[in-house]
Amino acid sequence: MTDKILNTVIIGSGPAGYAAAIYTARANLNPVLVSGPEVGGQLTTTPEIGNWPGAKDNPSGFDLMQTMMEHAKQLGTEMLSDTVVKTSLKGEVKELTLASGKVLKTKSVIIGTGAKARYLGIDSEEQYKGKGVSACATCDGFFFRKKTVAVIGGGSAAFIEALFLTNMCEKVYLVHRREGFRAEKVLIDRFDEQVKLGKAEYVLNATVDTILGDGNSVTGVKLKQKDQFIELPLNGLFVAIGHVPATEPFPELEKDDQGYLKTGFGTETQTSIEGVFAAGDCCDPVYRQAITSAGQGCKAALDVEHFLM
Ligand code: NAP
Repeated sequence: MTDKILNTVIIGSGPAGYAAAIYTARANLNPVLVSGPEVGGQLTTTPEIGNWPGAKDNPSGFDLMQTMMEHAKQLGTEMLSDTVVKTSLKGEVKELTLASGKVLKTKSVIIGTGAKARYLGIDSEEQYKGKGVSACATCDGFFFRKKTVAVIGGGSAAFIEALFLTNMCEKVYLVHRREGFRAEKVLIDRFDEQVKLGKAEYVLNATVDTILGDGNSVTGVKLKQKDQFIELPLNGLFVAIGHVPATEPFPELEKDDQGYLKTGFGTETQTSIEGVFAAGDCCDPVYRQAITSAGQGCKAALDVEHFLM
């Protein structure tokens, strides 16, 4: 435990966290940023970012986040590769306990912990996680070169995963529980081109009943499609059905019924406890874009500045 009381601690290293770090550093608040378990957050696994203003060469998510990290560091942000596991946020001095055992004391906190992959929640999924079931094509796609895989979901993330996999797999099925998609039109169009080339195929109005395997690896999936069951032989299955907010270490804060932190208490980014602010996917069930997260990180930093004055 250190007795030094910091001005502000930022929890999370996605666009929200780094934007908050850049703004608080430039306001001479000497921010400390605790990166969390995945430095750079969800975006680091996105092969190509096509909608970050100004980044017209479509950088990879990893490169974009690396640049943000370097920018925040260059301005004087102290980076800790650690994870907040416990918090005590009421009162003027907030205490954050890290996985390493270190305890940080601070006058204010900006939470930008983002969200993590949602899984289907069926027994066979649990049995084959790491044996053919994955939630990250960029991380695990390599293991399925020239193989047949399915991606579950109909949002932008599912299409990005599926498109990435068409570069290396023999065949990619996109399995979705209805006919309409939430994904961006440009991604659907690109996937349609792969369908025309015979490299990909839609399986619609279908939900996963059981992931099939031989005990060591996935061999297929049993789907319920309308009133019948069908089986697809597969080597891998990628789950891309959205995310759940990473808000477990904050039991004192008000959350909605899905676990998103509630904000808007006084200022736009203030949570239910004074001096604690939130930005990005941990508190945004609607927009969840890199650019909106960065914008909220900026707002949280400005709110912290006013709070400390
Ligand atoms: P999402 O947009 O919430 O889509 C989740 C998909 O999974 C939906 O199609 C949903 O079906 C399906 N789903 C949810 N639960 C399911 C279940 N239990 N079984 C089967 N299917 C299920 O999530 P996302 O694709 O991860 O995207 C999250 C956010 O990030 C979105 O706001 C998205 O715009 C953004 N994003 C943007 C980009 C970009 O390049 N602009 C890239 C990635 C993500 P229904 O449609 O039937 O509900």
